[in-house]
Amino acid sequence: MGRMRVAVLGATGSIGGNTLDVLARHPDRFELQAVSAHSQVDVLEAICRQHRPKWAVLPKADAAQSLQRALQAAGCPTEVLVGPEALVQVAQSPEVDAVMAAIVGAAGLAPCLAAARAGKRLMLANKEALVVGGAFFMRAVAEGGAMLLPVDSEHSAIFQCLPLNARAWPETIDHIVLTASGGPFRQRDPDSLHAVTPDEACAHPNWVMGRKISVDSATMMNKGLEVIEAKWLFHLAPDQIQVLIHPQSIVHSMVVCRDQSVLAQLGTPDMRVPIAYALSYPNRVASGASRLDLRQTASLSFEAPDPRRFPALQLAWAALRGPEGSTAVLNAANEVAVDAFLARRLPFTGIAALVAEVLSRLSPSAADVGSVGDLMALDARARAIARTVLPN
Ligand code: NDP
Ligand code: MG
Repeated sequence: MGRMRVAVLGATGSIGGNTLDVLARHPDRFELQAVSAHSQVDVLEAICRQHRPKWAVLPKADAAQSLQRALQAAGCPTEVLVGPEALVQVAQSPEVDAVMAAIVGAAGLAPCLAAARAGKRLMLANKEALVVGGAFFMRAVAEGGAMLLPVDSEHSAIFQCLPLNARAWPETIDHIVLTASGGPFRQRDPDSLHAVTPDEACAHPNWVMGRKISVDSATMMNKGLEVIEAKWLFHLAPDQIQVLIHPQSIVHSMVVCRDQSVLAQLGTPDMRVPIAYALSYPNRVASGASRLDLRQTASLSFEAPDPRRFPALQLAWAALRGPEGSTAVLNAANEVAVDAFLARRLPFTGIAALVAEVLSRLSPSAADVGSVGDLMALDARARAIARTVLPN
């Protein structure tokens, strides 16, 4: 068999960089076929010069043209493509076998759907795409015959505990436990949270990640998005998903079976492990992660999340129990709120409050979830409402 041809969408980000690292360890197995970036053109140029993929995608024509000139001058054969259509084109190309979906936010939905419909190995880091797409996304996976593999460490953990035929999961699982580090504010006085800064929120104790997911981890909205993601990936009811804070981030999640046997996956906190598994499943390849030495781990502890400190987490279950499309509304409101917090236009505690307000104002109907166009229109409406709620 030839090498697996991989497209890394969001190559300039944290997951993208970790994916390039794993790919470079196995040049005999994988070939980097395509990469994309949004704003970091210089980083994309360096990636192209080093890895020489067939295609690179940028959103704007002027930046793409100057990148193309620079690459040609350097003797790099990469062809630069432009715009969201090019992301879709790459994701469904017959010359691509596997797509790493590592774009952040709902912007990643269209290429994910294209990869799903084209029957690719779809390695999903971009949880927002599944939170927005929901049933529609899963139908595209089923109809296209795609192999959907989780990259989020918790979902990879659950997938690794149960490498079964997906149809057997409902009979096997009693519930799952998603672990959460609790982020940087796990022990902070909830009354002081309104004053925290973006840099404090992004200083995650165990993981180095992009700024949006770092803020989501600090509010625990990230775990809320993961609850929604787990519902779709593993065909679970909302009350079959529990969340436990585990500050050491060693146990990446657990499956509690019908017979009360509990399966867990452990490892050092390093995203290259779930990335390597998604790339090599059902086999395993070296990831570059360091070895877990439990003698060096003083203790593993677990605690229930405090709803007063983390109101965002409850909103995810509320959205799951609401009409279909509510999770897309939650996601859109959260993206606007996190951007506003990072721009210092909204206090930290305003994030969950804004999401709750938008959820209460916008209740989707069946007409909002019938197509990707409907979903993106719903996303745009939720963003517009969120912006009107933002303080001036
Ligand atoms: P980063 O912010 O580090 O990277 C995001 C990537 O998406 C960059 O390549 C960025 O390009 C690109 N991008 C940003 N906006 C757009 C847009 N509108 N259209 C197209 N591309 C865009 O994020 P992470 O790597 O941390 O996260 C990526 C995804 O993976 C998120 O959905 C996150 O929730 C998920 N995830 C991340 C984990 C982690 O450890 N980091 C763990 C589990 C899940 P550029 O940099 O050029 O602007
Ligand atoms: Mg995660």
